[in-house]
Amino acid sequence: MYATLGSELALPKHAPRAGLTCKEATRRATLFLEGRLHAADTAALEAHVASCASCQAYLDQIALVRDALRRLPSESPSQALRKMLRQAFVQNDPSKS
Ligand SMILES: [Zn+2]
Repeated sequence: MYATLGSELALPKHAPRAGLTCKEATRRATLFLEGRLHAADTAALEAHVASCASCQAYLDQIALVRDALRRLPSESPSQALRKMLRQAFVQNDPSKS
């Protein structure tokens, strides 16, 4: 059931704590880390995480990955790659089949 969220991560599988199930908590984790979770949902998530070591570990993992990705330098594709991608998009355009 959690496989679609990422098989590399240790996903928590506990009963509801502080009003949220672990599944609900992990679904809110990304929004929380992006600062896009509503205040009531944030409070529920924080309460859950405070009493659930698995979700705390999950949140830490997501935060680590997010921070690592942010530290990567941004690169622009070369002219040759742009041309190749443009051709691939045109050839695979579903609206033209
Ligand atoms: Zn949990």
